[in-house]
Amino acid sequence: MVEPRDAVGVLCAQLPVLRRCDPEKAEQLAADARAGRDFGSQLSRLLLQMELPGTADTERSGLGGPALVGGFGRHSAHEVFRCPGDRCARVQARRPAAPAPVCHLEDAPLRLTRS
Ligand SMILES: [Zn+2]
Repeated sequence: MVEPRDAVGVLCAQLPVLRRCDPEKAEQLAADARAGRDFGSQLSRLLLQMELPGTADTERSGLGGPALVGGFGRHSAHEVFRCPGDRCARVQARRPAAPAPVCHLEDAPLRLTRS
């Protein structure tokens, strides 16, 4: 089960993959997220179907849902990317060579912050 705020972060990170697998459902979930509706259980089911991890950090995709919350401390001394507008709980570690990650819900680059 994905918590509502976490669900937005997971959707934010996994939306491109979801769009590729099931465009119709992906857009429906994105619309729910933008409207502030609860779509956590639907998202969980979809991720399970596609065997995708329920995490908002694509860097740590192997670790599953709890990493989203438990992982915050690990980035404490580093720069991390956060969702613009704080819509979701997505946190993405910075990688020097990688392009800046994008919030797929806002269609905007993630904000670089020091935590
Ligand atoms: Zn986002």
